Amino acid sequence: MPEREIEFLIIGGGDAGFSAARTLREEGADGSVLVVSRDPDPPYDRTAVSKGYLGGEKSKAEVLLGGEDWFKENNVELLVRTSAMKLDTEAHTVTLSNKDVIRYGKLLLATGSNVRRLRVDGGDLEGIHYLRALGNADHIRDDAKDNVVLIGGSYIATEVAATLTSMGRKCSLVMLEDVTLERTFGKTAGGFFQKALTDHGVEIHAGEELERFEGEGRVSAVVTKSGKTIPADAVVVGVGVTPDVSLAKKAGLDIGEKGGVLTDAKLATSAVDVFAAGDIAEYDSVVHQKRLRIEHWDVAENQGKTAARSMMGSDEPHDVVPYFFSDLSDWTWMEYVGPAYDWTEEIVRGSVEEGKFTVWYLDGDRLAGALAVDRSDDLERARELLKSREAVDRKELAG
Ligand SMILES: Cc1cc2nc3c(=O)[nH]c(=O)nc-3n(C[C@H](O)[C@H](O)[C@H](O)COP(=O)(O)OP(=O)(O)OC[C@H]3O[C@@H](n4cnc5c(N)ncnc54)[C@H](O)[C@@H]3O)c2cc1C
Repeated sequence: MPEREIEFLIIGGGDAGFSAARTLREEGADGSVLVVSRDPDPPYDRTAVSKGYLGGEKSKAEVLLGGEDWFKENNVELLVRTSAMKLDTEAHTVTLSNKDVIRYGKLLLATGSNVRRLRVDGGDLEGIHYLRALGNADHIRDDAKDNVVLIGGSYIATEVAATLTSMGRKCSLVMLEDVTLERTFGKTAGGFFQKALTDHGVEIHAGEELERFEGEGRVSAVVTKSGKTIPADAVVVGVGVTPDVSLAKKAGLDIGEKGGVLTDAKLATSAVDVFAAGDIAEYDSVVHQKRLRIEHWDVAENQGKTAARSMMGSDEPHDVVPYFFSDLSDWTWMEYVGPAYDWTEEIVRGSVEEGKFTVWYLDGDRLAGALAVDRSDDLERARELLKSREAVDRKELAG
């Protein structure tokens, strides 16, 4: 069996994997670096998949991380359409789908997430789409010509509804929630985004549970448990993701309560010389003083950096405050630091009606998160408060 030695092996060609490779080179690692990805494409900005790339404003070349020649220019090897099949942490080897066996010095697992699939009648009909990769966006763009139904009330469904509406499609959104995005951001902020959607013609079916899809061969309608039938020429489902920990689990790495690969504060896993970053990492957050697993682009990027430094011998913990952003076409956008999860109180600064506001989420007297629309500067203060964990001054927050 062929066996190769690689100093830094990275499994996963997403934001976390790419950021780790780039950091290794930028910060002086001169050993061999290999990135293995089962994607057909080189690493790209996944956040563009539901926004500019789906909308056709950005080409594939424009969303590639680092640009087209980054790997060649930085002497980093990239294997696409290749899966890591087996990890042997004792032998320090990874077996790939092309049968190569790689002996690593340090290993980073950055295998990201898989979309959650719906198991309902009609779920296999043509015209039902899920969205994770560039190829999915290509199919949706070609296939979703007229009435499109989005399933889900979170950021994937709302972003796709906005993008497709801007492209002239008629979009309806079916969700369990009363208000879009309310689970993560509450009803005040969620209501603002819902209004932006309905103002642009998106039809919202709130508090509705999906019963089945109807159609012959191809989907023609979405039926809810309350008995609503919504015509559909295509459907896009955005009902969450699960971390892809299959490789880590088979190798016997510790898995946490949130389903991720357990790491310490510097992103080291339970196996010697093996690190994890991005959607799969369930890490000890020194900022929040608890275990977190977060599915945000910026977190993947920053954890990639921390993991690279840890692989190079640093003892510094990952201490970046998690940041998230979302755009609804060119109608509005938001930025958020947190994550708050549970909060006891919301304080609003600015004007929700005018689309220039910040929602501060408090847990008791402490800040748990903040969401800003057109008020980015407030997030700096939010970061300070999240890091210091000091009691907030409510008058200051209200502005
Ligand atoms: C459509 C869409 C829009 C988004 N928009 C936003 C946004 O606006 N803001 C935001 O903060 N976040 C957004 N996110 C979330 C964000 O993109 C993710 O949190 C981030 O991409 C996670 O990065 P990652 O590197 O951990 O995983 P991923 O980007 O999922 O990359 C994982 C990589 O691992 C590879 N892989 C998996 N298993 C194997 C294996 N066994 N062998 C080889 N390769 C393997 C995969 O092929 C992939 O290349 C969005 C996500 C999607 C899908």
